[in-house]
Amino acid sequence: MTSKAPHFENVSPAVHKSMTSNKGKNTKPELLVRKRLREDGLLGYRVHWKVPGHPDVAWPGKKVAIFVHGCFWHRCPHCQLPVPKTNQEYWIPKFERNVERDRENIAKLESDGWRVHVIWECELKKKNVEATFDTLLPELHKELGK
Ligand SMILES: [Zn+2]
Repeated sequence: MTSKAPHFENVSPAVHKSMTSNKGKNTKPELLVRKRLREDGLLGYRVHWKVPGHPDVAWPGKKVAIFVHGCFWHRCPHCQLPVPKTNQEYWIPKFERNVERDRENIAKLESDGWRVHVIWECELKKKNVEATFDTLLPELHKELGK
């Protein structure tokens, strides 16, 4: 995320934390996902592979991709985090563009034969993380033939 958000000081501490964490590459949620993949023997992935959306994890030869999405920027359907109260004319179109871009990237990949997984940051929280990998890992093993 490169564009600057105005008035960071006017948001709640929780929102501020979501805004300033989970930006850019090799974020904590991404590293957690990659660690679990390695532990499960799912090696050989590439990070930020140059296909639409630059998926956080990808096996280009198998056309399997994983996006790890921050709940704030990508507007997680589970969390439905509130839009900051100030500068809504900035935030609302920005969020709409993010969501639209995600949708387009996934559609492009899928139309090119990729299987795409989206992991939300909240699905990696302590109370959800085991269930998340219990679902994801068997699917990946099947798709990757490992
Ligand atoms: Zn979420």
